[in-house]
Amino acid sequence: MKITVVSPHRGDAAFALALAVEAWLVQGHAVEVVSCFTRSEFAPYSDAGSLHANDRISFVTAVRKREDEAWRKQYGVAKLTLTDLNLKDAPIRLHCSPEKVFGRPADVSEKVVSKVRRALELSGAGALVLPLGLDGHVDHVSARDAAMPAQTSALPLAFYEELPYAARAGGEEALEAAVNQLSLTLQTELQPAFASSLQRAESAIEAAVLRKRRAAWCYDSQIDESVTTEIAEFCRRYGGRERLWANAAWRGDVALMPQTP
Ligand SMILES: [Zn+2]
Repeated sequence: MKITVVSPHRGDAAFALALAVEAWLVQGHAVEVVSCFTRSEFAPYSDAGSLHANDRISFVTAVRKREDEAWRKQYGVAKLTLTDLNLKDAPIRLHCSPEKVFGRPADVSEKVVSKVRRALELSGAGALVLPLGLDGHVDHVSARDAAMPAQTSALPLAFYEELPYAARAGGEEALEAAVNQLSLTLQTELQPAFASSLQRAESAIEAAVLRKRRAAWCYDSQIDESVTTEIAEFCRRYGGRERLWANAAWRGDVALMPQTP
């Protein structure tokens, strides 16, 4: 099956779904990650600050592309493809400071909506994975809403818990609110789903945390050591896995639900 993941920025899919992507690839699925708002000057842990403003966007955009490629290479297979929509991120597109990107309504501009929809048409997804929009970042809710299929009941559809936001204070409440809101919008009940079976052995959970850390650390222009730890450790609460919120079509698909031993 082809599983298409919408990543608002480079790194969002890896932070939230590195283990699920790995499980899907092992199960023989093809995975495409569509990164939307990839033109950016946000790279707090890079040398971008010392550059002239005119050079900063192209520098940061290239740095972040390399980080994404490094993540893809960790899987060592051709069945993970990365698609770049090359849209400007919120601070550049909406001319606002990076602190002012939260809590804004979704950007429904023609350029954003048509680019995301076109990419999904081309992708031909058999299953679609979208961000929950937990942190209220305008790029996250915009990507999610633009990607939301008009007819959702037949297509396996699932939402992921963005990190590090899900791990932070208020994460639980934001999660509940987002799941409730989306269930209302879609007129269907979203329920937890996982890409692999529960790990009971402590060593398997430790290994999952380590693999997650390795994936997150690809994006070291974006996050520091403490955030990397936050992202990696979060999978412990699900037994070395990542939780998705899935519709009935997803949960009813034997190809997507791990078989319990
Ligand atoms: Zn993001």
